[in-house]
Amino acid sequence: MRIDKIEMYRVCNPIKRPYITAFGSQNAFNSIVVKLESDGIAGWGESCPGGGPFFSCYNDKSCFSIAKDFIIPKILHQEFEHPDELTALLEPLRGNEFAKAAFDVALWDIWSRKQGISFKKAIGSTQEKASIGYCFGVMKDFDELITGIDKMISIGYPRIKLKFCPGWECDMLDAVRKVYPDLTIHIDCNSAYTLDDIDMLKSLDKYNLAMIEQPLMHNDLIDHAKLQKMIDTPICLDESICSLQDARQAIEIGACKFINIKYARVGGITNSLKIHDLCGQTGTGCWLGGMGESSLGTTVVANLATLPNVNYPSDISPADKFYVENLGNPVLLTDQPGTYTMRDKPGLDVEPDFAVLAKYKQEEFFA
Ligand SMILES: [Mg+2]
Repeated sequence: MRIDKIEMYRVCNPIKRPYITAFGSQNAFNSIVVKLESDGIAGWGESCPGGGPFFSCYNDKSCFSIAKDFIIPKILHQEFEHPDELTALLEPLRGNEFAKAAFDVALWDIWSRKQGISFKKAIGSTQEKASIGYCFGVMKDFDELITGIDKMISIGYPRIKLKFCPGWECDMLDAVRKVYPDLTIHIDCNSAYTLDDIDMLKSLDKYNLAMIEQPLMHNDLIDHAKLQKMIDTPICLDESICSLQDARQAIEIGACKFINIKYARVGGITNSLKIHDLCGQTGTGCWLGGMGESSLGTTVVANLATLPNVNYPSDISPADKFYVENLGNPVLLTDQPGTYTMRDKPGLDVEPDFAVLAKYKQEEFFA
């Protein structure tokens, strides 16, 4: 497949209420959306790095700029036999996984459409349904959080993830465990701590958490390995894993027992599949995370969440959780809260809602 045309959009899509984590509060999700075209067949990809260099060192503007100047010139008019060739083609461009991911997804989408197979089949997924958990950011108070958890588990979500940061820590867990002593819960620290916080981190063992996600710095595998030796609760790495090499090294030194795979953070589908396979080979748990994507991206995450080695409910936000208007069409709908079944049409079978795209796009580029 030869790439004949490329469209790229930078989008700032507002959300219904502020989303608060260890990185601060945000009122919108910032993304790039890419369309690749080959022989009249289009593939779409979305990558959602956020509006500032907080989760990673990238944002929507840096992705747009790097893609325009370096990624698109490599892809336009390029011939591909298989979408996994893109990773090697972009290898000389260091980092910039979020920018690469949008193009990688779009190429996998085109390829599976051309093969006449679903995206799920194209990536080798075997589980019938994706199991989905629910994630809560920092709330107004504990009562609001408990009311929210009540609602989500009563309608069927199998596990709850809680954002965890200074000011929203063990008192919050005490309040939740008092009501739900046995509920499957894990916390996500978003790199808010160091080994100086070891006493608090050790005290987390008493909460019987399924895992502690990214307690320490994004670039610190060594201290994560030290911490894992000092606590019983499994560590799950998110921000720290940007490549297959990161995953291999983290597993080798015992820095984690789970990996949260995010396709955008690792440069796309090909690398996600490699990390997933490595988890299976090494007995490391894995599940899928998201970055606040619209249904353009959550459809990708839901498909990846049906891969054979995924063994914990993934983070896929319900279509109506964040956005005032969803950028993806059709929106990804649950069969029932807590599970998704993928559609069995060729490719990802999702494209932008073009009216929503027109409303929230900040910048566009055509080649
Ligand atoms: Mg996380």
